[in-house]
Amino acid sequence: MKTVLSSLTDVELQKFIMDLGEPKFRAAQIRDWLSRGAPDFSVMKNIPNTLREKLDTVAQTLPVKIVKKLQSSDGETTKFLLELNDCEQIECVLMRTTYGNSVCVSSQAGCAMGCKFCASTLLGLKRNLTVDEIYSQILVAQWELRSALSDDKQIHANGDPNNNDVSHIVVMGTGEPLQNTENVIGFIERANKDMNIGWRRITVSTCGIVPGIYDLIKWGRPINLAISLHAPVDELRSTIMPINNKYKIAEVLQAADEFTKLHNRQLMIEYILLGKKDENGETVLYNCTPEYAEQLSKLLAGKNCMVNLIPWNAVDERDFASPSGNAVHRFQDILIKNGIHCRIRRERGTDIGSACGQLRLNNKKD
Ligand code: SAH
Repeated sequence: MKTVLSSLTDVELQKFIMDLGEPKFRAAQIRDWLSRGAPDFSVMKNIPNTLREKLDTVAQTLPVKIVKKLQSSDGETTKFLLELNDCEQIECVLMRTTYGNSVCVSSQAGCAMGCKFCASTLLGLKRNLTVDEIYSQILVAQWELRSALSDDKQIHANGDPNNNDVSHIVVMGTGEPLQNTENVIGFIERANKDMNIGWRRITVSTCGIVPGIYDLIKWGRPINLAISLHAPVDELRSTIMPINNKYKIAEVLQAADEFTKLHNRQLMIEYILLGKKDENGETVLYNCTPEYAEQLSKLLAGKNCMVNLIPWNAVDERDFASPSGNAVHRFQDILIKNGIHCRIRRERGTDIGSACGQLRLNNKKD
């Protein structure tokens, strides 16, 4: 197997380069390219061609290779399908927004959680990602942003052509981060130290692994926590999220409260809006009836939280339907009337398959 240079320490990299019969200073030049996310050696313009070719036969820059890169038609969203060294595939998404450049990273290849509406879990869990594999996803995004510098068709965050750094991270891609807590924490520490991304610009999203939330509390960094709630009552939640049989809503919210109070942060609640087709092909509301909106309001009353309403992204294999725009707004109006902060999540890059896990799944089917 080829040596992954970005995973080496400075001393190891120097040794690797000198073992190839090359001068030590080349290691520093290569390190500079690696820290910018260079996808391969061909881009390393200050390295002689012969060395680049030699490196290519024995080494690779990152522990991931870009298999597919899809650009949304508005230019704001770029989605990457990445292949790991054992041929597992993961996704990451770069979103250029008005507040900065945000990257959604995966924490596992596949997922074991079995949520009934989600594509990521359809093939089960393959394995946890390493710190390097998670970190390399933001390097891929960083390289994409920098290489956009020479391309004036690109849209830049805040309309600022110099704003070409990753500024926000959401751990909301494939996988359950709190089933891989140690590596997710290692990744966040590294992103903070090496890329200077502030704790408050990093969000971890969980389906509600209670001990994992307490691990985050112990760790003590003031990141943001998002809970994928998707139902206000246990009976309903258990029908769509098997994890609810283990950790009930009240326990999850209790842990989340402790986390947010400790850091004085606003809790994010994610709520997918699901419908089902009845026998006449009509969409009936599943978890987003007006009654559930009232129950959700009661559950969250008095909490410092923001509810993200996410109209379901269609997944062919899943037996749900997206509710109408009217139903979505009616649900939101009830929350607002009850004083709950909420917003409808803006759809990004629907034209490139924005449902989490969809890209990997489709690629496996090809
Ligand atoms: N396991 C973590 C993070 C990954 S999922 C968690 O559960 O939070 C990230 C978010 O996307 C979750 O809120 C998840 O429920 C939601 N999601 C999954 N499939 C979706 C789909 N088809 N449409 C819209 N949102 C979806």
